[in-house]
Amino acid sequence: MEKLQNYIGGALVAPADGTYLDNYEPAKGEVYSLIPRSKSADVEAAVEAANKAFPAWSALSNAQRSKHLMALSNRISERLDELAHAESRDNGKPFKLAQSVDIPRARDNFAFFATAILHQEDEFHSMGSKGFNYTLRQPLGAVACISPWNLPLYLFSWKIAPALASGNCVVAKPSEVTPYTAYLLSQICIEVGFPAGVLNIVHGLGAEAGQAMVEHQNIKAISFTGGTQTGARIASIAAPRFKKLSLELGGKNPNIIFDDCDFDRAVKISTRAAFANQGQICLCGSRIFIQKGIYNQFKEAFLERVKGLKVAPPENDDSRMGAVVSEDHMNKVLSYIKLAQEEGGTILHGGNRVQMPAPHAKGYFLEPTVIEGLSYDCRTNQEEIFGPVVTLTPFESEEEVLMMANSTEYGLACTIFTQDLNRAHRVAKDIHSGIVWINDWLVRDLRTPFGGVKNSGVGREGGFEALKFFTEAKNVCFNF
Ligand code: NAD
Repeated sequence: MEKLQNYIGGALVAPADGTYLDNYEPAKGEVYSLIPRSKSADVEAAVEAANKAFPAWSALSNAQRSKHLMALSNRISERLDELAHAESRDNGKPFKLAQSVDIPRARDNFAFFATAILHQEDEFHSMGSKGFNYTLRQPLGAVACISPWNLPLYLFSWKIAPALASGNCVVAKPSEVTPYTAYLLSQICIEVGFPAGVLNIVHGLGAEAGQAMVEHQNIKAISFTGGTQTGARIASIAAPRFKKLSLELGGKNPNIIFDDCDFDRAVKISTRAAFANQGQICLCGSRIFIQKGIYNQFKEAFLERVKGLKVAPPENDDSRMGAVVSEDHMNKVLSYIKLAQEEGGTILHGGNRVQMPAPHAKGYFLEPTVIEGLSYDCRTNQEEIFGPVVTLTPFESEEEVLMMANSTEYGLACTIFTQDLNRAHRVAKDIHSGIVWINDWLVRDLRTPFGGVKNSGVGREGGFEALKFFTEAKNVCFNF
């Protein structure tokens, strides 16, 4: 069986103590490769390699660093289909989705930050005849990037690219649930001659390798995307050590449909927002609020569309929903469907595991599930399920829907469907979330700030926000 390796100091290496974890293929429910179960000794070696590489890497001009990052982007582009197959196999998502969204986005993340640093301007504050200030933005040193399993290479590269572009060296850990494309990225680094030690990839469990990275005294900043509880744990370790911290955490996003919306568009986009990537996107609109005047009409049209979502093995051309990521996760989602029924919900569609014929008989496939009849404040409507499950809730007024939408501990994203411009912008202003889409969903402009409020996180990624996070501002004041 294939054994993945860590990438430390420019070389592929086995974990120091020779231990491995099983890596499952969700669509078959079988182990297909082994992942290094790295510990603090591996993290130590990676941090050492990063610190050794830092003086030379940080001394490069932006244009030189840009060339190195573009080489990664170009090679991802050349290996796009292979990476998409690997992502689909490792995660369970449809190949077509990985090919059209995940891997192109990983390619674009490197290209975006490679070119952003060519357009940076520095800050200067004049004090008139007295003197002036200028601000140096200096890289931090070795930084940690820790990412989740739902958009593996997409989110991994979203952190690594700005960290490297701004002159840091990186110790990165992909999720142990989906390590494969990060491993392919280490091969790509070797293929394009990426400088040794600048990027180090350590595989393993969060509580072991991840925590060792967070605790390490020579890791100056941590960029983390994952669950809210994990974020809280990381913050409790990093805060007393005064590390810079960026936390992108969970969500329970409202999708608000007003009765004056462009109906067909709202139905179509809401279906995608609910079930793309099997509902395993932090931005998915899992709570659909529909104004009473069109509740029944919307429900019928939405269910009609959901019935057309084909659950099938991820490599099939017609697969619209693949497998969820793991058996544990499948069971968690099923337990929430049971809870929804206990809380008085009615399942309008789905609710079950889908049994596929061999060779996918043990795969983790779930039906897209639509539930109505729940109160806005029950657990099903408050807790993150992170699977193909949505609830439909009617509302009367703008005031009422804002109260319900804002009632969770989360505040990541929100979608609003209305043709009334004033209302759209009023609700956008009053909703508690870091991201709002009006009449659309998951349209991403990489220059914009990305992140959540409340328990959805601290800090912003994207554009110059990310480049600022990975640098320390130093003001230099000169008095004439
Ligand atoms: P998770 O928190 O279990 O794991 C995320 C990463 O953290 C993994 O690499 C894991 O190994 C590591 N980790 C776990 N414990 C750690 C510790 N003690 N120290 C250091 N690292 C540790 O999350 P997950 O299940 O992989 O991902 C799903 C979650 O991610 C959902 O809550 C989802 O909403 C969230 N998410 C958020 C965003 C966003 O941008 N806000 C994007 C995608 C996913």
